[in-house]
Amino acid sequence: MNIEIMELEESRCRFLLKDASHSDANALRRALISDIPKMAIDQVEFHLGPIMADGKEYESITPLFDEIVAHRLGQVPIPTDMELMTFREDCVCEGEGCPNCIVMYSLNKIGPCTVYSGDLIPLGNDAFKVEDTLIPIVDLGDGQAILIYAIAEMGTGRRHVKWQATTGVGYKYQPIVEIDESLCDQGMQCVNGCPRKVFDEVDGKPFPARLEDCTLCNTCAEECDQQAITVRSDQRSFVFGLETDGSMTCAKALEVALASLEAGFEEFSEMVSELQA
Ligand SMILES: [Zn+2]
Repeated sequence: MNIEIMELEESRCRFLLKDASHSDANALRRALISDIPKMAIDQVEFHLGPIMADGKEYESITPLFDEIVAHRLGQVPIPTDMELMTFREDCVCEGEGCPNCIVMYSLNKIGPCTVYSGDLIPLGNDAFKVEDTLIPIVDLGDGQAILIYAIAEMGTGRRHVKWQATTGVGYKYQPIVEIDESLCDQGMQCVNGCPRKVFDEVDGKPFPARLEDCTLCNTCAEECDQQAITVRSDQRSFVFGLETDGSMTCAKALEVALASLEAGFEEFSEMVSELQA
C-alpha cells in the first residue's frame, strides 16, 4: 500500500492510494471517518434566572430550546492536539475531568445580537480558542441573554458524529485512458465531448491531462468516430478525497487514521496467533 499526495491544503486533500485492494481502501475510509480522536463539547450548563449587565436586567432565555443550543455547540470544531489531551475515561483523573482530558468554555452574551462560535471563550488555555469563529449559534432578541459553561472532551466518530474530524471522505478507482494513435484522426471529439474536461490538445493530439477528474463516464470513447479510445479503471489504485472540519489538518487526520489502521491490524493478527496456539 502506497500513498501519493496529489493536493494538500490545511483542511482539504486528495491523494492516490496505490497497490491496494478495495478492502484496504474501504478500511482506510472507515478509519478516517470513525477512528480519529478529536475534541467536541459534550456538556453544557445553562445559567437560569435573570442576568444583570450594564445596570439592566436581562432574561436568560433564547428563541431556541436549550437542547438545540447545546446540540449546535457540540458541533463546533474545537482545536485538537492529541499530544496534549487524552480520553477522559483513560485519564489519570479516572473520568472526573482535569486539564489533561477536558477544556472548559464560557459564553456570555446579551441581546439583541447573534451568538457565534467565536464567542466561546476557553478558560485557561488560549490554544483551544475556536478557529472557525463565524458559525451562528442563536439569535438573541432585545432583553434576552445567555450565560453558559461548556465542557469539551475527546471522542471518536464511533461514539457520535460531532467527534468526526473528517467530512466528505470518498474514493474512486484511478481511471486509465488509452488512445490508440494509429486510429486517432485528431478530430478532437474527445477533447470537446468530455464533460469533465479531462483532455487537452497537445501538439495537435488529444492528451488526458487531468486523469484524476475522470469519472469513467466513457463519453470520450463514445464520441470518438474512430474508436481510438478505451477507458478502464485501475483496480489496485484509488483516488481519495477528504476534508477536515477544522479541528486538525488533513495531514494529521491521515497520519492518525493510518496509525489506527496499523494498530487494528496488529491486534487482529495477535488474536489470530492466539487462536492458532
Ligand atoms: Zn483527566
